[in-house]
Amino acid sequence: MKRTVLLLGCLIALGAASSQAAAQTQSITRSSELMQVYHSISSHDLLAYAAELSDEKYGGRLSGSPEYMAVAEWVASRLKEWGLEPYGDDGTFFQMFDNPHSEVFDSGALSVRMEQEGEELTIGYSFPEDYFPGSNSDAGTVTGEVVYVGYGITAPELGYDDYAGLDIQGKIVVIDSGVPFQGEDDEFVKWVPYSYHQLKLDNARRHGAAGLLYNSKIANPNTSFNEELVYCHIDQHVTDHLFFGTGRDHTITASIRRHPDSRSCNVIGLIRGSDPSLQDEVILVGGHLDGVGDLGQVIPGALDNASGCADMLAAARALAASPVKPKRSIMFIFIGGEECGLLGSYHYCANPRFPLEKTVVYFNLDMVGHGTGLSVGGGETYPGIARHFEAVNSDLLHRAFRMSASRSSVGRPRSDSVIFNRAGFRTMSFGTSGRVPGIRTSYHHPDDTIGTLTPEIMEDVAKLMFLGLLDLANDTGLEF
Ligand SMILES: [Zn+2]
Repeated sequence: MKRTVLLLGCLIALGAASSQAAAQTQSITRSSELMQVYHSISSHDLLAYAAELSDEKYGGRLSGSPEYMAVAEWVASRLKEWGLEPYGDDGTFFQMFDNPHSEVFDSGALSVRMEQEGEELTIGYSFPEDYFPGSNSDAGTVTGEVVYVGYGITAPELGYDDYAGLDIQGKIVVIDSGVPFQGEDDEFVKWVPYSYHQLKLDNARRHGAAGLLYNSKIANPNTSFNEELVYCHIDQHVTDHLFFGTGRDHTITASIRRHPDSRSCNVIGLIRGSDPSLQDEVILVGGHLDGVGDLGQVIPGALDNASGCADMLAAARALAASPVKPKRSIMFIFIGGEECGLLGSYHYCANPRFPLEKTVVYFNLDMVGHGTGLSVGGGETYPGIARHFEAVNSDLLHRAFRMSASRSSVGRPRSDSVIFNRAGFRTMSFGTSGRVPGIRTSYHHPDDTIGTLTPEIMEDVAKLMFLGLLDLANDTGLEF
């Protein structure tokens, strides 16, 4: 045993020495003109981009809504101003796809009728403390007895039915997210199709439920619309009330208008490569532009994902202004419909603007705006790509720098990068690590505001991308 440990120790020491040597030989002399562009990337601009994208006028950037199209126009105008080539449909920056959506007018209402010391009383819950309205609820009011149906899954081939023996006609069901199986093995794979929120809502309606309380309080348009199914998301303490045995029946009210024919888009801009033979190869950089909308209060989506889009904008601007031109092409894709079920990345992968075999890598940015360190996901899997970014950090940025292996998950896809990965693209991601003391970030919540961002780390992410992408695009001996 001891021998093995010693041997391992030696290997690790050797590995560290050689990577240090590699980092030293990486050090690149860069012209002052190039460094001028590098230093023009400022935290001030980064924060201004994030503030614009999170502005109330864009209503939380719900994909499919007119407000989303307005923010897409704003992004396209910046790309145009900086000289990127439109690379969407028909010479525009926009790659369009179908994206039905629901317009939520206000936060609705949720109340419970209960009995206390022989008296009937009605207790109202409040948004956003106790519940969030369902983003794709039908409009209306429903009152009914509440029935707990576990995960809300009917899976005949697995011999499983949460609704077995229950009469829920016209009632309100309470369901949990997830599936009754943990882990990532073959058994889990069988359950994955049942983990989709859409399927759980459809199944409740099919069984006759008139209302639904989703036991997971989060703003989430990644659900389905069912006629005559009114639903909302509840916090654990509301669920606890339910099972305390005091609640008689619940009333859910939703004021919503469904737009079944709305469309949305990805915004795509290209920096064409300067080398006649390498310009057909592309490096893709993407992040979702859409958010979860307005639930009676705008969810600004500053960290998720105005931050990643701001990083991309700053890097695109610098690359377009660079005196050193990239030999390979670099394409920026601001993705729509992520929050509605990854619609934009599915659409791109089915309609790629460069063929798969000519795409060097897809880099994803999602929630890249808070922290103290930098990370490159997939860096261990593709060291030939990652070394360029590692070198920029060790030469110029000196941040804590993490790399990880690219992992393909078998579960329900929850990020654009999973869709690209499953379509056969090499996928990597830019990220941040570490937390800034005293600042609490929020997810799919009205508190996801620009006040929780760290503009200095966003500046460094953009600088890392600018020089790293340029070096990668100009690497004529690229090996993966
Ligand atoms: Zn996100």
